[in-house]
Amino acid sequence: DTIILWFRQDLRLNDHPALEAAAREGKRVLPLYILDDETPNEWRMGGASRWWLHHSLSALGKDVLNAGGQLILRRGEAATILQELCEVSGADTVYCSRRYEPWASAQEKTLHQTLGSQEIAFKRYGGTLLHEPGQVMTQGGGPFKVFTPFWRACQRIEIAPPVTPAEKHWANRVQSDDLDDWALLPTAPNWAESWGDYWRPGENGAQERLHEFLDDEVARYADERDFPAVEATSRLSPHLHHGEISPRQIWAMCEQKRLENPHSETAVKKFQAEIGWREFSYHLLHFFPGIPETSFKENFTNFPWQANEERLRRWQEGNTGYPIVDAGMRELWATGTMHNRVRMVVASFLCKHLLQHWRSGEDWFWDTLVDADLASNGCSWQWVAGSGADAAPYFRIFNPVTQGEKFDKKGEYVRRWVPEVAKLPNKYLHKPWEAPAPVLKEAELELGHTYPEPIVDHRDARQAALDAYEHIRLSN
Ligand code: FAD
Repeated sequence: DTIILWFRQDLRLNDHPALEAAAREGKRVLPLYILDDETPNEWRMGGASRWWLHHSLSALGKDVLNAGGQLILRRGEAATILQELCEVSGADTVYCSRRYEPWASAQEKTLHQTLGSQEIAFKRYGGTLLHEPGQVMTQGGGPFKVFTPFWRACQRIEIAPPVTPAEKHWANRVQSDDLDDWALLPTAPNWAESWGDYWRPGENGAQERLHEFLDDEVARYADERDFPAVEATSRLSPHLHHGEISPRQIWAMCEQKRLENPHSETAVKKFQAEIGWREFSYHLLHFFPGIPETSFKENFTNFPWQANEERLRRWQEGNTGYPIVDAGMRELWATGTMHNRVRMVVASFLCKHLLQHWRSGEDWFWDTLVDADLASNGCSWQWVAGSGADAAPYFRIFNPVTQGEKFDKKGEYVRRWVPEVAKLPNKYLHKPWEAPAPVLKEAELELGHTYPEPIVDHRDARQAALDAYEHIRLSN
């Protein structure tokens, strides 16, 4: 007898409840990954995620091989492929980890019916979150819409330890696609050329990153996690997104760290609360599945956005003339990620200074982030735009100059990503347009030629944003 273990966003072999359940059935396990670009529709994986997926599948394939099995790769609509493979392999059961994207939940419902009608059992397991959506509810039984009480309630529920591995009997190999034929890596242009310097996709890379973080960066986490030039955060988000590490594994290691080193308590708790934001995003996506597409606060559906291709393009390319914004956008393009503080700054700039719909920023991030995640991305964009649950108030408008001066005081981050302004003294680094002519000359900077003039004036833009907000307040 054979069970198909359908890998999805859970590309690991350890702490994998569906895989362990399959192994414990005593049947032969057929590990399968399906590249399904049809079912997610417009939320098919973006370019950066595909780069990651290629390397992650390559790593998983090797790990499965080392364990004695063979990872089968197939491309197409998941339901069709699963039925076909059940027939070919004689499998009567399909196990997988649950997903929470609206399209994925709908797909799971359909699979229950179609597979069930052919007497194929279909079972879903957890493991992607600390708590399943629905486990953490308000006293009245409704979904939380505010983070702090949600997280407090989460912490009252015990977190199970990672599952212990059982011996696996792998199924005989069946025909598999060749990963290279999927052409997941970008070619024209190959914008991921140097990403290998930053990332090590796969389960081993994820474990290594967690251990390094807890040995090293965590000491700086509490005080310096907001400074983009400092390596103080975990950079675990793409590993978590692709399921190469489970939040339970992270949790268990954090608890161990706290026990071993009581001084780390504050930093570790702060870090755990960030994992909490990931939980909260999934919780919101589950209960409010419209989040990636429509403003959570209804009045924002009437917001007078001013769609403008030119403004959007300059933001995407990192040519707004605001160095901290441009540094972030260029870091994103060059590495597939951007520091969280800078994500907030560039997102606020797009929505509030440039009055572009948060969805256009969400789409760009979807395509360019290696951690692009429907729950976290949608919730974060709405949080910044002011339209989300528990969002930053709209009238709080980040000033890109003071944000730069505060969080990149010595300008290391900006100098790294925006070399055109690198020779400016710190005093003008975040506002080159204020530098007197001799200073610009000395810094070999010609505004409007070697580096853009600011795309909008901060004060005018701020006022325009507040006026736009007033419009929805009045029309509500
Ligand atoms: P750490 O500080 O080490 O945090 C640990 C983990 O907690 C992260 O790996 C991540 O899984 C989770 N986390 C941290 N902050 C958040 C948050 N605000 N919301 C949800 N989870 C969080 N994160 C994504 O994983 N995918 C996205 O597509 C994404 N889009 C974002 C878009 C915008 C506009 C903003 C402002 C934030 C977005 N984030 C997203 C959240 C956050 O920026 C990243 O999770 C974080 O920068 C990843 O770096 P890290 O792993 O070093 O984080």
